[in-house]
Amino acid sequence: MASANLSSTVTRLRSQYETGRTKPIPWRLAQLKGLDRMLREGGDELADALRADLGKSAPESFLAEIDFVAAEVRAMRKHLRSWLRPKRVHTPPHLQPAKSYLLREPLGLVLVIGPFNYPVQLTLAPLAGALACGNAVIVKPSEEAAETSATLARLLREYLDPDAVAVVEGGAEATSALLAERLDHIFFTGSPRAGRIVAKAAAEHLTPVTLELGGKSPAIVEPGADLAVAARRIVWAKFMNAGQTCVAPDYVIALDGVGPELERHLAEAVREMYGHAPAESPDYGRIVNEAAFDRLAGLLEAGRLVCGGGRNRETRYIAPTVLADVDAKDAVMAEEIFGPILPVLSLDSLDEAIAHVNAGEKPLALYAFTDSEATRRKLLTRTSSGAVGFNVPSAHLDVPGLPFGGIGASGLGSYHGKWSIEAFSHAKGVLDKPLAPDTMQVVYPPFTAVKEAVMRRLR
Ligand code: NAD
Repeated sequence: MASANLSSTVTRLRSQYETGRTKPIPWRLAQLKGLDRMLREGGDELADALRADLGKSAPESFLAEIDFVAAEVRAMRKHLRSWLRPKRVHTPPHLQPAKSYLLREPLGLVLVIGPFNYPVQLTLAPLAGALACGNAVIVKPSEEAAETSATLARLLREYLDPDAVAVVEGGAEATSALLAERLDHIFFTGSPRAGRIVAKAAAEHLTPVTLELGGKSPAIVEPGADLAVAARRIVWAKFMNAGQTCVAPDYVIALDGVGPELERHLAEAVREMYGHAPAESPDYGRIVNEAAFDRLAGLLEAGRLVCGGGRNRETRYIAPTVLADVDAKDAVMAEEIFGPILPVLSLDSLDEAIAHVNAGEKPLALYAFTDSEATRRKLLTRTSSGAVGFNVPSAHLDVPGLPFGGIGASGLGSYHGKWSIEAFSHAKGVLDKPLAPDTMQVVYPPFTAVKEAVMRRLR
């Protein structure tokens, strides 16, 4: 879309927002209902698009994307009125009589920028939150998942109020043009690199941002943990969507000599889930594009190959790969991998693991496989991450009561369920005091000793 058209889309949506049409609860519920219907009636089309873009299997698309968002939308429809209810707060004695309360006010025109990897979930779950809060929304899906972007654009136009929800397709150029506009909130999911660009552009208009970014999420494995189960869970979370999952364990830290046994279990778990020829598994995905393929191929050389290593540039296939004996200085340990390569770093103690994690950026998630309460406590108090998963990676984002978001370089702000209400609305504080009696007299000058005594006593 040319930038003049983008500007007119922004102007059109903003003027619709200003009419107040998006604010009534029935409008919001109607949009959520529309999303729900869209996911039911358009689910298969979306699953086809996901297969075309990322080789995702239909069960995985429904589990991690379509049904995931449907559950989020259902919870919002169910709880919306109670989540939005004004909340009374205590009014201190020196301001009495009065009442104080919080109102959840829509932000206005919200821009949702999506990534390629879960292009349905990570575009529609924020959209649901933004609509639930009564905002007008521009959705910018990822151009890298082109089929899904086109399908979302068509379906959203059909199922949602076109005067208050618009889809803009395109890449960095279209996004930059949108970012040049004055918006009321930007909800961005993607890489820390693009996140910085978004935050800088937002600063120009002082537009608040939510940044859902990535990073190197470690999975620490201690002796004493059931290594077969730990390996299965790590393999499940790591190789889902061919490793292109923001909360996937990026690497493993094997403690106190568990490395060799864990590596055997990891290789075994890969065979159990994807067979001897993962390229033929209907459940194994593909790398999104050639640039990502080339980047990942360059990371395959580190350490010792435990399993995998195969690749095919034409089909953008990289086998589920486990690398042992990697060094903390290897390229594969420098940046978020975001692909099906799992390095295992062996360290001697939990303290060393904590020092390693704390030397890097704060991860989106930290996982530990342990049966020790002392380890849990130590990790919770001495490391910082968006979330923590003990004995299970990635699944925390499926717990509706938990906020989903990062910290530091892995993100700013959070959402999901009730947390989306905080992300997409302003908590407006209201103090409402009657004019009579005028109890404020005590704070008006000229001050006297009596007034001062009363003021200081009531505080
Ligand atoms: P990306 O940053 O390349 O792209 C994300 C979005 O930003 C896309 O819509 C893209 O069009 C836009 N974009 C890219 N470059 C831009 C630029 N220069 N100017 C303006 N807009 C630009 O990310 P991706 O490759 O789609 O996704 C992978 C990254 O996203 C990983 O780092 C991953 O960890 C992270 N991620 C985070 C979450 C989360 O919820 N925290 C979820 C999924 C992915």
